[in-house]
Amino acid sequence: MEQRKGAAVVIIGGGVTGLSAGWWLARSGVDVLVLEKNIVGWEASGRNGGGATHVYSPFGLEEQRLWPQMDELLGYPTEHQPYRIGVALSEAQLALARRWAEIGETRGFKWELLDRRQLKELVPIVGDNAIGGTYLHFGGHANPQRTVQAYAWALQDHGGRILQHTTVTGLTTRGGRVTAVETTQGAFGADTVVIAAGPQTGLFADMLGVFLPLAPARVEMIATEPLPLMRHGGVAGNGLYGRQTLRGNLVYGGGPHEWINVPDMATPDHPNTPLVRNLARRLAELLPGAAHLRVIRAWGGVAENTPDGLPVIDRLSSPDNVILATMSSVGFGLSPAAGKGISELVMHGRCLFADLSALALSRFADTPPDWRERAGWISTSASVAETAARGSR
Ligand SMILES: Cc1cc2nc3c(=O)[nH]c(=O)nc-3n(C[C@H](O)[C@H](O)[C@H](O)COP(=O)(O)OP(=O)(O)OC[C@H]3O[C@@H](n4cnc5c(N)ncnc54)[C@H](O)[C@@H]3O)c2cc1C
Repeated sequence: MEQRKGAAVVIIGGGVTGLSAGWWLARSGVDVLVLEKNIVGWEASGRNGGGATHVYSPFGLEEQRLWPQMDELLGYPTEHQPYRIGVALSEAQLALARRWAEIGETRGFKWELLDRRQLKELVPIVGDNAIGGTYLHFGGHANPQRTVQAYAWALQDHGGRILQHTTVTGLTTRGGRVTAVETTQGAFGADTVVIAAGPQTGLFADMLGVFLPLAPARVEMIATEPLPLMRHGGVAGNGLYGRQTLRGNLVYGGGPHEWINVPDMATPDHPNTPLVRNLARRLAELLPGAAHLRVIRAWGGVAENTPDGLPVIDRLSSPDNVILATMSSVGFGLSPAAGKGISELVMHGRCLFADLSALALSRFADTPPDWRERAGWISTSASVAETAARGSR
């Protein structure tokens, strides 16, 4: 295979994880190359809900610290907006919203319990079916597509390179190390390889003889026509998460997932399913003042999931120059911190600002190969209705 100019660090995958890691590395002066089989952000990174409220994560404190600075650090807008409001339509939903708020409190963040009147003052489109809610003085959301582009431009501003339409097909291993990354455009030499290929990260782990339990799932989103801007655009509840865009659209998604297989390097299709109607009905329940708005767009994306819902960010012991980075459905919000953590793993051998032991691959050492079936996570042959009955995101 033709050998092309490689880089000190080759990153497989131009989603937010790979791009953020590449940007942090490039701004530290590291020679970095991102290989992306489509265009940057084509997969989950450009299709998600934009939520950035993951304070329970080892990356959570850094996520909250970094987001308000990201526009300035990157030099391009992400449309980040702070705060998050939880709307409860039942006592069970209120208990859930409180649980999330209290997790934030244990990490030093403020929140308030809201009665219906207070809730309506903040979110005028809430209806009389709401019993109350939570006002998180933390968390937030951003525009996924602008954020992806911001990472990509900022990475290049610092001298990093991105090759789009370049599919990685294999890894050349010699002397216990990956020495080159094989692609449809030739092979690229590398000192260190970061595998941030979203749901396909598990396939690369397989190539290296490493078991990374990962289940891909299709998730749907809808966007309504615009309505006047609310004070806070990040409103969640009724099993939905989402945001109001700066144009005024409500963009919402949520469970149920449709579990699928990603058997090879093929990009999964993203057709919409009947889940879209289910999302629209639940959004009208959550925000009755917006029930008259039309759904103007809908799309699907494929999210990656580990058995415990936490990312895997780990440097392999063999080959010892490979870092696996897959985010288990929470990768957008965590991307500023995850990218920083990955860059530190590359440069210093460990993350300097957080203890990543909870994200180590070794926690799945005893996970059986049929873990998906045991967990009741099923493949695309099952009907959507059957999947819906099994729970939501
Ligand atoms: C509908 C939806 C809503 C979501 N909502 C939220 C949310 O509100 N907040 C949140 O934090 N997270 C959310 N997520 C999850 C979040 O989007 C993902 O965790 C995150 O985008 C993962 O980023 P990534 O870069 O690790 O992977 P990806 O975005 O999947 O990127 C991986 C990239 O690798 C490329 N690639 C794969 N194989 C190869 C190959 N062989 N060669 C070259 N390139 C390859 C792919 O083309 C892709 O661009 C949501 C996901 C979906 C689908």
